[in-house]
This record gives sequence, C-alpha cells and structure tokens, in this order.
Amino acid sequence: MTNEMICYGLRDSGSSDFVEVEGYIVDKKILSFYNKLKEQLSKDGFCLRLESAYRPFERQLSIWNRKASGELKLLDADGVPMERPQDEEQLMYAILTWSALPGASRHHLGTDLDVVDGNACPADYEVQLTPAECNGMFAPFHKRLTELMDADESFGFSRVFVPGRGRIQPEQWHIAHLPTSRMYLENFSLARLRQIYEKTDIACKSALLDNLDRLAQDYIYPYFV
Ligand SMILES: [Zn+2]
Repeated sequence: MTNEMICYGLRDSGSSDFVEVEGYIVDKKILSFYNKLKEQLSKDGFCLRLESAYRPFERQLSIWNRKASGELKLLDADGVPMERPQDEEQLMYAILTWSALPGASRHHLGTDLDVVDGNACPADYEVQLTPAECNGMFAPFHKRLTELMDADESFGFSRVFVPGRGRIQPEQWHIAHLPTSRMYLENFSLARLRQIYEKTDIACKSALLDNLDRLAQDYIYPYFV
C-alpha cells in the first residue's frame, strides 16, 4: 500500500507505522508527543485518556452504511434521534451531521484522537463524547487543554472541529497532531476519493458523487488546517 492511500484510511492496520496505545491504534510518529501531553496534563491533575484514534476506511464505511440502513440511530444536530429521510440527498446530509465521509474522516490519519479526562470519569461511566460532557464533568480538563494550546505548549496538538469552521459540529474532544496530519493530507485528491466511491458499495452513492465538490467545500477542506 502506497503512502498516497494513507489519507483515505486505506493503510493496512498491521502497518509498521502504527502503534497501540491504551487499546487504540495511533500513528507511531505522534506517540512521543502524546506521551508528553499526557505527562503535562498529569502534573495538572488530569488523566489524558483515549476514547478513539485511528479508524480505517472499512470501519467508517460500515458506520455510514448502517446509519443509512437504519441499523444505527440517526441523530439531529441537537443529538436527538430523528426520522430517517426517504430522499437520498437528505439522508446523506442527516448522516453527515455526526459522521464523517468515509475516505475523508480525520480519524483515518492516525494523528487524530478523541480524548477525555480519565480522572473525571466515575468508574462505571460510559463516555458519550458530547458537548454536554465537555461543558460538565470534563470542563476543567478542556479549559486546561485550551490554555496549553493557546500557549503553544500542547506539543503540536490542536482542536480541528471548532465553531465557525465548515459544517461539521464542533467537537472539543477531538484533537489532532497537526504537523503529522498535514504531511498525510498533502496527498489527498478529491478525484481519487470519487474513484474510491465509484467502486465501493456505499449508501447514498449517487448523492455523494453528484454533490462531491460541494461536500468537500463544507466537510473536508475546511479541516485541512
Ligand atoms: Zn474524533
């Protein structure tokens, strides 16, 4: 598998570029930076903990197709379960409210992480990754993380899904090692993504292909930061 396919999540999970951390797979290049950030936060009383990291194309495709089929719940922008639209284009946009386009998820890069404060979680608590959690039990953690990022002391990690950027809902819990992700995203080509969709069994395929340029402007390129 060539380097050019990394940005679409089409890298072999057994790739030697990967390393397992806390049960998740991340790109080896970010490991030392992650450990440094973890160490810094632990000095402040927080326990940086992963809730998600690398996700291959197949996994994002499965989420996408199961949301389209109704096997997984569709949530509106407020996080409330919604009726499944009959129209393919409307269905596609409904899925996009909370799920990335397969082949264009930043979780494909191995440089992006969903994180929480393990010290703020009750032992039996199941993390949801919602704005309510970020403003509630994880608020002090996110405040400190923001301070570190603003002071350029976060070892290359930044938030990507922030208010006012693109059409993806803000996600405070999602952090990215930008210097590494930029390197992979240099190889992204929309024409290549189109080819991948053409030969993939993906739900809402014609809506995706018909709207791909627009989708890229709203859901992909704003997050190439
Ligand atoms: Zn994420």
